[in-house]
Amino acid sequence: MAVKNKEDLPHVEIGILGGTEFYEIEGIEHIEEVQIETPFGKTSDNFIIGTLEGKRVAFLSRHGRGHQILPSEINYRANIYGFKKLGVERVISVSAVGSLKEEIKPGDIVFSDQFFDRTRRNSSFFYEGIAAHISFAQPVCAELSTVLYEAGKELGLRVHQGGTYICIEGPAFSTKAESRIYRSWGCDVIGMTSATEAKLCREAEICYSNMNLVSDYDVWHEVEEPVSVEIILENLRRNIHKAKAIIKKTITALPPKRSGQCDCAEALKDCIVTQSDVIPEEIKEKLQIIFAKYVK
Ligand SMILES: [Zn+2]
Repeated sequence: MAVKNKEDLPHVEIGILGGTEFYEIEGIEHIEEVQIETPFGKTSDNFIIGTLEGKRVAFLSRHGRGHQILPSEINYRANIYGFKKLGVERVISVSAVGSLKEEIKPGDIVFSDQFFDRTRRNSSFFYEGIAAHISFAQPVCAELSTVLYEAGKELGLRVHQGGTYICIEGPAFSTKAESRIYRSWGCDVIGMTSATEAKLCREAEICYSNMNLVSDYDVWHEVEEPVSVEIILENLRRNIHKAKAIIKKTITALPPKRSGQCDCAEALKDCIVTQSDVIPEEIKEKLQIIFAKYVK
């Protein structure tokens, strides 16, 4: 395994971001493990690249294999930059969430279509010398989400299309008061990572969809016992195979190229407000892979 330059990297169509208890995906053939250098530092782990259901995929473990990296410590920019460098156009993100609604039960899968971001992280490639403001009104790729949802339905799983994901900083779970307030705001599921990834993918013009595996009822539920790591891991281990089955079915169903039904491939168009002639050269070099279409 070696660090490779961009021109030596294999071209990959689909990225898979695995979360808690999702550290590998079986069935990938012709595996190559690649460490990708980024101007933002180290990615969470090496990328596992290979062929799955006839398509080129790259798998990355968000918390590192074995889970050493906390949500606030994840180098989100490096991870998404890594996918972009590989040529990935679509990222399927899998994460564990708590449910804030009675009808969204542990074991269910939610493809959320909105976020409420309560984190305090820098979740942009554009800072310190360059400003860009992407539209985040439709934060996930509706086309990719629909294919994932349909795959889940065809597999006979309990899946929900749409919903609001509240993203908290963590690492502690919510208090009961917070959990009740998030419910009153109309949020559906709660997690610690996905809003940040979605923003960066949109800036990088990558289609992004998140598959939320419901592991618990957070802490608001009066009957169920409050969320604990033990409950989460037990439920996730039981359900992770569902996510993998959906991914395989989705990858089979996806056309090799984006069809143009979504606007993700042009999400950065007209969003960079800094004039090209005042953007420092080192930033132009650093973000070349992200904004080459718009900044010369
Ligand atoms: Zn899209």
